[in-house]
Amino acid sequence: MASKIVPTQSKGIYDCRVLSNDEVARGIFLMRLHAPEIAARVQPGQFVNVKTQPHEADEIIPLLRRPFSVCQVDRTAGWISVLWKNVGPGTRMLSRHSIDTVLNIIGPLGKGFELPQKDAAVALVAGGLGIAPMPILAAALRERRVNFTLLLGARTAAELWGKEELQRFGAPIKIATDDGSAGQRGFVTELLQNWIKENDPHASRVYSCGPMPMLERVAALCVAANVHAEVAVETVMGCGFGICMGCPIEPRAGVELFGRYYLACLDGPVFCADDIRYEFTSH
Ligand SMILES: Cc1cc2nc3c(=O)[nH]c(=O)nc-3n(C[C@H](O)[C@H](O)[C@H](O)COP(=O)(O)OP(=O)(O)OC[C@H]3O[C@@H](n4cnc5c(N)ncnc54)[C@H](O)[C@@H]3O)c2cc1C
Repeated sequence: MASKIVPTQSKGIYDCRVLSNDEVARGIFLMRLHAPEIAARVQPGQFVNVKTQPHEADEIIPLLRRPFSVCQVDRTAGWISVLWKNVGPGTRMLSRHSIDTVLNIIGPLGKGFELPQKDAAVALVAGGLGIAPMPILAAALRERRVNFTLLLGARTAAELWGKEELQRFGAPIKIATDDGSAGQRGFVTELLQNWIKENDPHASRVYSCGPMPMLERVAALCVAANVHAEVAVETVMGCGFGICMGCPIEPRAGVELFGRYYLACLDGPVFCADDIRYEFTSH
């Protein structure tokens, strides 16, 4: 059971029990957590900030929590899941947690995707770990009876997760891999370019998550075609709720913020694709 420690109106700090933790693709893990309070409120595109725990007494604990998009939610059963890749000490510790470990989590955090009208043509565009927020978004779209197409990209088939999970929504799925080991050889943005040509720009919406260079290309394609696009950024982040100012995102020239930068944790992580500068951050 999850015990509430610091409740606030929107987010809280909770002790959450690990329900499962499996390697679902090469180096990529999916963890389900019992978190009824977060499950009740989380919206597609929001994230949780997870305190990592050591396995051995002499292991150094990362000072900062690690942010992860909420991947799936079961509001009735009271669980959420997060999907991550092993890239450093925090994610390595998480991958070794077994069932019944209790993790301290803050969430739900940030601003999520704005859901479209029923008659919109929608594309979900994910690159690599950018697949993480797509299952919860796909479920919300299906609930609203919005039709959508999934465009998934990965370096190689072994690092592709989500096809089976997303197939149950009955939406068309197109895949691109850098090495051609699954779907079309090339970038997922090439699939997007074709999708844009096939749809009425005024009724289209694109939701995307992935590495910054990919998001920059998504934004360029959508701006050029006059398609509304939203991108979820996964920058380096500190506190997750606007205190440390550690996740600045520069606004695009012409977006007036009265001299300040966006903060990915508060103003995002989902932004209107045309509102931000992509080259500002290396991640
Ligand atoms: C809002 C948000 C949502 C996120 N959602 C997910 C998710 O669903 N799944 C997932 O796998 N990751 C996600 N991330 C990124 C994730 O938080 C980092 O991969 C994680 O913090 C790395 O921790 P670590 O201790 O293992 O590695 P670190 O030692 O912190 O970093 C190891 C290497 O990864 C790089 N790195 C660290 N953080 C990031 C980052 N945010 N983006 C790119 N490179 C980074 C470092 O520069 C370093 O080279 C998200 C980030 C944000 C801000």
